[in-house]
Amino acid sequence: MPATKKLILVVIDGLTPSMLEDTLERSVAPSLGLLAEHGRYRRAISTFPSLTPVCLSALATGAHPDVHEIPHLVWYHRGERRLVEYGSSFGAVRAAGTKQSLIDTIYGLNASHLGRGAVTVYEALEDAGLTAAAINITCYRGRHAHRPTVPFLTRPAHGPKRFFFYNLFESDVTGAPLSVRNRPRGTIDAYAAAVGRWLVTRDGFDFLVFYLSDYDYASHAQGPDAAHAALARCDEAVGTLIEAAGGADEFLERYAVILCSDHGQTTVSEVAKLQDVFPDELVTASNRAGMVYTDGDPGALAQRLDGNPAVEAVLWREGGEAVARRDGAELRFGPAGTSGDAAILDHPDGLERAWAALANPNAGELIVSAAPGWEFADLAGRHHSGGGSHGSLVVGDSEVPMLAVGLDVLPASIVEVMPAVLGYFGVPVPSYARTLTKT
Ligand SMILES: [Zn+2]
Repeated sequence: MPATKKLILVVIDGLTPSMLEDTLERSVAPSLGLLAEHGRYRRAISTFPSLTPVCLSALATGAHPDVHEIPHLVWYHRGERRLVEYGSSFGAVRAAGTKQSLIDTIYGLNASHLGRGAVTVYEALEDAGLTAAAINITCYRGRHAHRPTVPFLTRPAHGPKRFFFYNLFESDVTGAPLSVRNRPRGTIDAYAAAVGRWLVTRDGFDFLVFYLSDYDYASHAQGPDAAHAALARCDEAVGTLIEAAGGADEFLERYAVILCSDHGQTTVSEVAKLQDVFPDELVTASNRAGMVYTDGDPGALAQRLDGNPAVEAVLWREGGEAVARRDGAELRFGPAGTSGDAAILDHPDGLERAWAALANPNAGELIVSAAPGWEFADLAGRHHSGGGSHGSLVVGDSEVPMLAVGLDVLPASIVEVMPAVLGYFGVPVPSYARTLTKT
C-alpha cells in the first residue's frame, strides 16, 4: 500500500536513550512527548566505530562500513597516501590541513569516499520519483547538482533535490539565518529549524532528514545525560516543524516520523595517546576508537595493548577470519563460525559490527575499541576528558533511542532506518540492506 503521509527523519546527534527516556518521563519536552505519545519506542544499536561520519553514513545508506566505506572521523587514504580528517577538533583539522579537511568534509565524504556499492536513501527515493530533502546531514549524496552559495567554494555538490548544508549549499532561498554564528548557543540547529519550517510550510518534500547536530556538541562538553538545555532546544526545533504544519493534529495527519540518534555517549576522564604505543606505525585515533595502518603483523602489534587500561578490545583480520583480543584472550570469528572466548565481543551486535568495521577497505589493519572512561587523543592531542565521548563498542556508546510514529516497523539498528524509509514508500531496498518485518 503506498504511503499516504510524508515522512520526516529527525536525527539528534549523540542523544542517549537514557537522556530521552528521562526527559519524556518528566514531561518537560512537549514536542518529543507528542511524538512518543503517538509512536512506538525502543533502544536500537549503532554501528562501529560509533563516530558521527560512520553513523550518519549508516543511517543514510542502511549499511555498516563494510559497504559504505567511511571508517572513522580520521583515517588514512591509501590511494592518495594522506590522512582524511572530518573534524575531530579545530586543532586536528589544522594538523591535517584546514583547507583539505574542509574539502574532505564538505565534498570528499560524499563525492569520493562513500562506497559506490552503497545506495543513499535520497538516491533510492528520487530514482523512484519521490522528492527527498536533507538539512545539514553530512551524508547527503544525491542526484542533483547544487552550486555553493558562498564565494570561497566553487564546485557543486550532489545532494537530494531539496538540499541545505550549513549555508554552504541551499537549494531554495528560505531566509534562514547564518548557522555558524554561535554554536554553543545552538545557532546551527536554529538554522535547521528555520529551513524545516520553510519546507513544512510549503509541503516541499516526500522525505526529509532533519539533522540536529548541536546536542552532541553540548554533550561532549557537559557529559552524557547532562545537556538538558541542548535537548530543550532540540524539542523546540521539532516544535517548529509541528507549528509550521498548523499544530499537533495537522502535523500527525500529514507526517510519519522516525526520531533517533546516531550513537550514544559515555563519560570520559582519562586520555591515552595510541601513537605512543606504535611509534613506527601510522595511527589514526579520535574519541573512543583508533586504527593502526601497518605492513607488519597485526596480531603481534595487538599484543602490545595487552594490559593497557585505555583499551578494551583490539580487532584485526587473519586469513578469512577476524580476531578480537581482550585482556590477552582471543576470539576468532567469520563465515565459518566462532571459536574462543565469546565474552570478548559481548557488546550489542558485537560480532556483526566488528566484522563490518574490519571489512571496510579504508579501515586500518588494527581497530582499537577504548575501555570505559578512556579517550584517545586526536592528531592535535585534543580530547573531551571531563565530558562525554563515543566511538567504541561498549553499550553506552552504541545504544540509541529509536522512536517511530505512523510506521508499521520499528528499526532495531541504525542500519534498519534506511530500509524502513524505503519500505514505507514501497521502494525496494538494496540487496545488502535488511528487509524489515512488520511488528
Ligand atoms: Zn554523532
